[in-house]
Amino acid sequence: MENTISQIVEITKASESKIGQVDFENLNFGNIFTDHMFVCDYVNEEWQTPKIVPYGPLTLEPSARVFHYGQAVFEGMKAYKDDSGDTFLFRPDENFKRINKSAERMAIPEFPEAYFFEGMNTLLKLDNEWIKPGFGNSLYIRPFVIATQASVSASEADEYKFLIICSPAQAYYSGDVSVLVAEKYSRSADGGTGYAKAAGNYAGQFYPTNLAKKEGYQQVIWTDANTHEYMEEAGTMNVFFRVNDTLLTAPTSDRILDGVTRKSLIAIAEKEGIKVDVRPVKVSEIVAAAKDGSLKEIFGAGTAAVVSPVKAFGYKGEHYEITKQENSYADHFKKALMDIQYNKAEDPFGWRYKV
Ligand SMILES: *Cc1c(COP(=O)(O)O)cnc(C)c1O
Repeated sequence: MENTISQIVEITKASESKIGQVDFENLNFGNIFTDHMFVCDYVNEEWQTPKIVPYGPLTLEPSARVFHYGQAVFEGMKAYKDDSGDTFLFRPDENFKRINKSAERMAIPEFPEAYFFEGMNTLLKLDNEWIKPGFGNSLYIRPFVIATQASVSASEADEYKFLIICSPAQAYYSGDVSVLVAEKYSRSADGGTGYAKAAGNYAGQFYPTNLAKKEGYQQVIWTDANTHEYMEEAGTMNVFFRVNDTLLTAPTSDRILDGVTRKSLIAIAEKEGIKVDVRPVKVSEIVAAAKDGSLKEIFGAGTAAVVSPVKAFGYKGEHYEITKQENSYADHFKKALMDIQYNKAEDPFGWRYKV
Protein backbone atom coordinates (compact mmCIF):
# COMPACT_ATOMS: atom_id res chain seq x y z
CA MET A 1 0.00 0.00 0.00
CA GLU A 2 1.47 3.34 -1.03
CA ASN A 3 -0.44 5.26 1.61
CA THR A 4 1.98 5.80 4.46
CA ILE A 5 0.66 9.00 6.01
CA SER A 6 -2.82 7.85 6.94
CA GLN A 7 -4.30 4.55 7.99
CA ILE A 8 -7.82 5.83 7.41
CA VAL A 9 -7.74 7.93 4.27
CA GLU A 10 -7.16 6.53 0.76
CA ILE A 11 -4.85 8.86 -1.15
CA THR A 12 -4.53 9.50 -4.86
CA LYS A 13 -1.86 12.11 -5.41
CA ALA A 14 -2.00 14.78 -8.10
CA SER A 15 0.43 13.93 -10.91
CA GLU A 16 1.96 17.40 -10.68
CA SER A 17 1.55 20.43 -8.46
CA LYS A 18 -0.05 23.67 -9.68
CA ILE A 19 1.76 25.67 -7.03
CA GLY A 20 4.34 27.08 -9.45
CA GLN A 21 1.59 28.93 -11.33
CA VAL A 22 0.28 30.75 -8.27
CA ASP A 23 1.20 34.36 -7.49
CA PHE A 24 1.13 34.27 -3.69
CA GLU A 25 1.70 38.03 -3.50
CA ASN A 26 -1.55 38.80 -5.30
CA LEU A 27 -4.19 36.38 -4.10
CA ASN A 28 -7.86 37.19 -4.38
CA PHE A 29 -9.68 35.59 -1.49
CA GLY A 30 -11.20 32.21 -2.30
CA ASN A 31 -10.36 31.87 -6.00
CA ILE A 32 -7.42 29.47 -6.06
CA PHE A 33 -7.39 25.97 -4.65
CA THR A 34 -4.61 23.60 -3.63
CA ASP A 35 -3.62 20.38 -5.39
CA HIS A 36 -5.83 18.02 -3.39
CA MET A 37 -9.27 17.75 -1.85
CA PHE A 38 -10.87 15.46 0.68
CA VAL A 39 -14.02 13.58 -0.33
CA CYS A 40 -16.20 11.18 1.63
CA ASP A 41 -19.48 9.75 0.36
CA TYR A 42 -22.49 8.81 2.41
CA VAL A 43 -24.37 5.86 0.87
CA ASN A 44 -26.25 2.90 2.31
CA GLU A 45 -26.65 4.77 5.60
CA GLU A 46 -22.90 4.98 6.12
CA TRP A 47 -19.97 7.31 5.52
CA GLN A 48 -17.67 5.34 3.21
CA THR A 49 -13.86 5.20 3.15
CA PRO A 50 -12.63 8.81 3.06
CA LYS A 51 -10.41 9.76 0.14
CA ILE A 52 -8.00 12.44 -0.86
CA VAL A 53 -7.91 13.03 -4.60
CA PRO A 54 -6.57 15.73 -6.95
CA TYR A 55 -8.68 18.91 -6.69
CA GLY A 56 -11.13 18.98 -9.58
CA PRO A 57 -14.74 19.12 -10.76
CA LEU A 58 -17.44 16.84 -9.37
CA THR A 59 -19.89 14.93 -11.51
CA LEU A 60 -23.43 15.13 -10.14
CA GLU A 61 -26.86 14.38 -11.50
CA PRO A 62 -28.78 17.57 -12.39
CA SER A 63 -31.44 16.24 -10.05
CA ALA A 64 -29.04 16.12 -7.09
CA ARG A 65 -31.07 17.52 -4.22
CA VAL A 66 -28.57 20.17 -3.25
CA PHE A 67 -29.40 22.04 -6.48
CA HIS A 68 -33.10 22.14 -5.72
CA TYR A 69 -33.54 22.35 -1.99
CA GLY A 70 -30.21 23.73 -0.84
CA GLN A 71 -29.51 20.90 1.55
CA ALA A 72 -25.93 21.91 2.28
CA VAL A 73 -23.79 23.11 5.18
CA PHE A 74 -20.23 24.40 5.42
CA GLU A 75 -17.45 25.56 7.70
CA GLY A 76 -14.66 28.11 7.41
CA MET A 77 -11.34 27.72 9.18
CA LYS A 78 -7.67 28.48 8.60
CA ALA A 79 -4.25 26.87 8.90
CA TYR A 80 -1.34 29.07 9.98
CA LYS A 81 2.40 28.52 9.71
CA ASP A 82 4.87 29.87 12.23
CA ASP A 83 8.42 31.03 11.53
CA SER A 84 9.89 27.59 12.14
CA GLY A 85 7.53 25.97 9.62
CA ASP A 86 5.10 24.31 12.02
CA THR A 87 1.45 24.34 10.99
CA PHE A 88 -1.43 25.09 13.34
CA LEU A 89 -5.20 25.14 13.30
CA PHE A 90 -7.21 27.33 15.66
CA ARG A 91 -9.85 25.56 17.80
CA PRO A 92 -10.75 23.03 15.06
CA ASP A 93 -12.85 21.06 17.55
CA GLU A 94 -15.27 24.00 17.52
CA ASN A 95 -15.64 23.80 13.74
CA PHE A 96 -16.12 20.07 13.92
CA LYS A 97 -18.89 20.40 16.49
CA ARG A 98 -20.50 23.22 14.57
CA ILE A 99 -20.64 21.48 11.20
CA ASN A 100 -22.49 18.62 12.85
CA LYS A 101 -24.80 21.04 14.62
CA SER A 102 -25.51 22.71 11.27
CA ALA A 103 -25.91 19.28 9.65
CA GLU A 104 -28.43 18.18 12.28
CA ARG A 105 -30.57 21.26 11.57
CA MET A 106 -30.51 20.49 7.84
CA ALA A 107 -31.28 16.77 8.35
CA ILE A 108 -27.81 15.76 7.15
CA PRO A 109 -26.19 12.73 8.83
CA GLU A 110 -23.49 13.37 11.42
CA PHE A 111 -19.90 13.16 10.17
CA PRO A 112 -17.42 11.05 12.21
CA GLU A 113 -14.84 12.96 14.23
CA ALA A 114 -11.94 10.65 13.28
CA TYR A 115 -12.62 11.15 9.57
CA PHE A 116 -12.78 14.93 9.98
CA PHE A 117 -9.49 15.24 11.82
CA GLU A 118 -7.61 12.53 9.95
CA GLY A 119 -8.87 13.90 6.63
CA MET A 120 -7.87 17.45 7.47
CA ASN A 121 -4.46 16.52 8.89
CA THR A 122 -3.62 14.35 5.91
CA LEU A 123 -4.77 17.00 3.42
CA LEU A 124 -2.74 19.70 5.17
CA LYS A 125 0.34 17.49 5.14
CA LEU A 126 -0.02 16.76 1.42
CA ASP A 127 -0.63 20.42 0.53
CA ASN A 128 1.68 21.84 3.19
CA GLU A 129 3.72 23.90 0.68
CA TRP A 130 0.58 25.92 0.04
CA ILE A 131 0.60 27.26 3.59
CA LYS A 132 2.97 30.21 3.41
CA PRO A 133 4.74 31.47 6.51
CA GLY A 134 4.41 35.16 7.35
CA PHE A 135 1.99 36.99 9.64
CA GLY A 136 -1.36 37.26 7.87
CA ASN A 137 -0.74 34.47 5.34
CA SER A 138 -2.90 31.40 5.82
CA LEU A 139 -4.65 28.55 4.13
CA TYR A 140 -8.42 28.99 4.20
CA ILE A 141 -10.10 25.62 4.72
CA ARG A 142 -13.64 24.99 3.55
CA PRO A 143 -15.27 21.76 4.74
CA PHE A 144 -18.81 21.30 3.35
CA VAL A 145 -21.54 18.74 2.86
CA ILE A 146 -23.98 18.50 -0.05
CA ALA A 147 -26.99 16.30 -0.72
CA THR A 148 -26.09 14.33 -3.86
CA GLN A 149 -29.01 11.94 -4.18
CA ALA A 150 -30.59 12.13 -7.63
CA SER A 151 -34.22 13.06 -7.00
CA VAL A 152 -36.35 16.20 -7.05
CA SER A 153 -38.66 14.89 -4.37
CA ALA A 154 -38.73 17.51 -1.60
CA SER A 155 -37.38 15.59 1.34
CA GLU A 156 -33.97 14.94 2.80
CA ALA A 157 -31.51 12.95 0.72
CA ASP A 158 -30.07 9.58 1.59
CA GLU A 159 -26.80 10.25 -0.23
CA TYR A 160 -24.28 12.99 0.53
CA LYS A 161 -20.74 14.11 -0.12
CA PHE A 162 -18.52 15.62 2.55
CA LEU A 163 -15.62 17.57 1.04
CA ILE A 164 -12.75 19.72 2.22
CA ILE A 165 -11.14 22.17 -0.19
CA CYS A 166 -8.36 24.64 0.65
CA SER A 167 -7.51 28.07 -0.69
CA PRO A 168 -4.36 30.08 0.07
CA ALA A 169 -5.14 33.48 1.60
CA GLN A 170 -3.27 36.66 2.39
CA ALA A 171 -4.03 39.12 5.16
CA TYR A 172 -7.56 40.12 4.35
CA TYR A 173 -7.86 43.89 4.26
CA SER A 174 -11.18 45.20 3.12
CA GLY A 175 -10.42 48.56 4.74
CA ASP A 176 -12.83 49.99 7.29
CA VAL A 177 -16.37 49.38 6.12
CA SER A 178 -19.65 51.24 6.30
CA VAL A 179 -22.69 49.19 7.28
CA LEU A 180 -26.42 49.68 6.92
CA VAL A 181 -28.65 48.59 9.79
CA ALA A 182 -31.46 46.41 8.41
CA GLU A 183 -34.95 47.82 8.81
CA LYS A 184 -36.87 45.49 6.51
CA TYR A 185 -34.93 42.37 5.55
CA SER A 186 -33.77 39.60 7.89
CA ARG A 187 -31.20 36.85 7.58
CA SER A 188 -32.82 34.57 10.11
CA ALA A 189 -35.83 34.18 12.35
CA ASP A 190 -36.80 32.47 15.59
CA GLY A 191 -36.97 28.75 15.00
CA GLY A 192 -35.11 29.14 11.72
CA THR A 193 -31.63 28.18 10.53
CA GLY A 194 -29.62 31.30 11.39
CA TYR A 195 -27.37 29.48 13.86
CA ALA A 196 -26.40 26.95 11.20
CA LYS A 197 -23.82 27.55 8.50
CA ALA A 198 -26.43 26.45 5.98
CA ALA A 199 -25.85 27.46 2.35
CA GLY A 200 -29.23 29.12 1.80
CA ASN A 201 -28.74 31.57 4.68
CA TYR A 202 -26.07 33.29 2.61
CA ALA A 203 -27.88 33.32 -0.74
CA GLY A 204 -30.72 35.13 1.01
CA GLN A 205 -28.37 37.92 2.13
CA PHE A 206 -27.05 38.86 -1.30
CA TYR A 207 -30.08 40.83 -2.50
CA PRO A 208 -30.51 43.05 0.59
CA THR A 209 -26.72 43.52 0.68
CA ASN A 210 -26.80 44.69 -2.95
CA LEU A 211 -29.51 47.21 -2.04
CA ALA A 212 -27.28 48.47 0.79
CA LYS A 213 -24.37 48.76 -1.66
CA LYS A 214 -26.46 51.02 -3.87
CA GLU A 215 -26.74 53.35 -0.87
CA GLY A 216 -22.97 53.31 -0.38
CA TYR A 217 -22.71 50.67 2.36
CA GLN A 218 -20.62 47.51 2.00
CA GLN A 219 -22.44 45.34 4.51
CA VAL A 220 -25.68 45.00 6.40
CA ILE A 221 -26.04 44.77 10.16
CA TRP A 222 -28.86 42.31 10.55
CA THR A 223 -31.44 43.04 13.19
CA ASP A 224 -33.94 40.72 14.85
CA ALA A 225 -36.68 39.67 12.45
CA ASN A 226 -39.58 40.44 14.80
CA THR A 227 -38.95 44.09 15.66
CA HIS A 228 -35.72 45.14 13.87
CA GLU A 229 -34.87 46.86 17.15
CA TYR A 230 -31.85 44.76 18.12
CA MET A 231 -28.44 44.46 16.49
CA GLU A 232 -27.55 40.86 15.63
CA GLU A 233 -24.81 40.20 13.07
CA ALA A 234 -22.73 42.16 10.56
CA GLY A 235 -22.69 40.52 7.14
CA THR A 236 -21.21 37.10 7.82
CA MET A 237 -19.55 38.17 11.05
CA ASN A 238 -20.59 38.57 14.63
CA VAL A 239 -20.62 42.19 15.73
CA PHE A 240 -19.21 44.08 18.72
CA PHE A 241 -19.92 47.63 19.89
CA ARG A 242 -17.57 49.53 22.16
CA VAL A 243 -19.46 52.07 24.25
CA ASN A 244 -16.94 53.99 26.35
CA ASP A 245 -14.71 51.10 27.46
CA THR A 246 -17.35 48.37 27.55
CA LEU A 247 -17.86 45.88 24.74
CA LEU A 248 -21.40 44.91 23.84
CA THR A 249 -22.39 41.91 21.76
CA ALA A 250 -25.61 39.98 21.30
CA PRO A 251 -26.02 36.58 22.96
CA THR A 252 -26.09 33.65 20.55
CA SER A 253 -29.51 32.23 19.81
CA ASP A 254 -31.17 30.24 17.07
CA ARG A 255 -30.86 33.36 14.90
CA ILE A 256 -27.21 34.11 15.55
CA LEU A 257 -24.21 32.07 14.52
CA ASP A 258 -21.99 31.01 17.41
CA GLY A 259 -18.70 32.31 15.97
CA VAL A 260 -15.37 30.93 17.12
CA THR A 261 -13.79 34.38 16.72
CA ARG A 262 -16.58 35.97 18.77
CA LYS A 263 -16.20 33.60 21.69
CA SER A 264 -12.39 33.82 21.55
CA LEU A 265 -12.51 37.64 21.69
CA ILE A 266 -14.88 37.50 24.64
CA ALA A 267 -12.49 35.15 26.46
CA ILE A 268 -9.45 37.36 25.72
CA ALA A 269 -11.32 40.50 26.81
CA GLU A 270 -12.44 38.91 30.05
CA LYS A 271 -8.93 37.67 30.79
CA GLU A 272 -7.58 41.17 30.23
CA GLY A 273 -10.21 42.74 32.44
CA ILE A 274 -12.07 44.48 29.62
CA LYS A 275 -15.76 44.54 30.42
CA VAL A 276 -17.94 42.58 28.00
CA ASP A 277 -21.72 42.75 28.22
CA VAL A 278 -23.27 39.84 26.35
CA ARG A 279 -26.87 40.97 26.09
CA PRO A 280 -29.38 42.12 23.47
CA VAL A 281 -28.08 45.39 21.99
CA LYS A 282 -30.74 47.92 21.00
CA VAL A 283 -30.28 49.86 17.79
CA SER A 284 -31.60 52.92 19.65
CA GLU A 285 -28.89 52.76 22.33
CA ILE A 286 -26.16 52.56 19.67
CA VAL A 287 -27.67 55.51 17.83
CA ALA A 288 -27.81 57.45 21.12
CA ALA A 289 -24.19 56.49 21.88
CA ALA A 290 -23.14 57.62 18.39
CA LYS A 291 -24.85 60.97 19.01
CA ASP A 292 -23.36 61.61 22.45
CA GLY A 293 -19.87 60.41 21.49
CA SER A 294 -19.73 57.37 23.77
CA LEU A 295 -19.77 54.97 20.80
CA LYS A 296 -16.06 54.43 20.26
CA GLU A 297 -15.98 51.46 17.90
CA ILE A 298 -17.98 48.89 15.99
CA PHE A 299 -16.26 45.82 14.56
CA GLY A 300 -17.15 42.52 13.00
CA ALA A 301 -15.49 39.27 14.12
CA GLY A 302 -15.02 36.19 11.96
CA THR A 303 -12.36 33.77 10.70
CA ALA A 304 -11.80 35.35 7.27
CA ALA A 305 -10.95 38.91 8.37
CA VAL A 306 -10.44 38.18 12.11
CA VAL A 307 -11.60 41.66 13.13
CA SER A 308 -13.13 44.09 10.67
CA PRO A 309 -13.53 47.71 11.85
CA VAL A 310 -16.66 49.65 10.91
CA LYS A 311 -16.17 53.35 10.19
CA ALA A 312 -19.81 54.39 9.78
CA PHE A 313 -23.34 53.07 9.90
CA GLY A 314 -26.63 54.07 8.36
CA TYR A 315 -30.02 53.81 10.00
CA LYS A 316 -33.41 55.26 9.03
CA GLY A 317 -31.88 57.59 6.47
CA GLU A 318 -29.27 58.98 8.89
CA HIS A 319 -25.54 58.39 8.54
CA TYR A 320 -23.35 58.07 11.63
CA GLU A 321 -19.55 58.31 11.43
CA ILE A 322 -17.35 56.72 14.06
CA THR A 323 -14.14 58.56 14.91
CA LYS A 324 -11.08 56.32 14.55
CA GLN A 325 -9.65 55.50 18.01
CA GLU A 326 -5.96 55.79 18.86
CA ASN A 327 -5.70 52.53 20.79
CA SER A 328 -8.58 50.68 19.26
CA TYR A 329 -9.92 47.50 20.73
CA ALA A 330 -10.29 46.22 17.16
CA ASP A 331 -6.53 46.45 16.47
CA HIS A 332 -5.66 45.16 19.91
CA PHE A 333 -7.89 42.07 19.69
CA LYS A 334 -6.86 41.33 16.15
CA LYS A 335 -3.21 41.25 17.14
CA ALA A 336 -3.85 39.31 20.35
CA LEU A 337 -5.77 36.62 18.48
CA MET A 338 -3.36 36.43 15.55
CA ASP A 339 -0.37 36.18 17.92
CA ILE A 340 -1.96 33.04 19.35
CA GLN A 341 -2.87 31.68 15.91
CA TYR A 342 0.66 32.20 14.53
CA ASN A 343 2.42 30.79 17.60
CA LYS A 344 3.88 34.18 18.50
CA ALA A 345 2.34 34.30 21.97
CA GLU A 346 1.52 32.03 24.86
CA ASP A 347 -1.68 30.08 24.38
CA PRO A 348 -3.23 30.19 27.86
CA PHE A 349 -6.54 28.85 26.57
CA GLY A 350 -5.12 25.83 24.74
CA TRP A 351 -6.59 26.93 21.41
CA ARG A 352 -3.72 26.07 19.09
CA TYR A 353 -3.79 22.64 17.44
CA LYS A 354 -0.57 21.46 15.85
CA VAL A 355 -1.02 19.68 12.52
C1 LIG B 1 -19.07 31.99 9.95
C2 LIG B 1 -19.92 33.09 10.46
C3 LIG B 1 -19.53 33.91 11.53
C4 LIG B 1 -18.15 33.86 12.14
O1 LIG B 1 -17.82 32.64 12.70
P1 LIG B 1 -16.30 32.26 12.97
O2 LIG B 1 -16.38 30.93 13.59
O3 LIG B 1 -15.77 33.30 13.89
O4 LIG B 1 -15.60 32.30 11.67
C5 LIG B 1 -20.45 34.81 12.03
N1 LIG B 1 -21.66 34.94 11.49
C6 LIG B 1 -22.07 34.21 10.44
C7 LIG B 1 -23.44 34.37 9.91
C8 LIG B 1 -21.21 33.25 9.90
O5 LIG B 1 -21.60 32.52 8.86
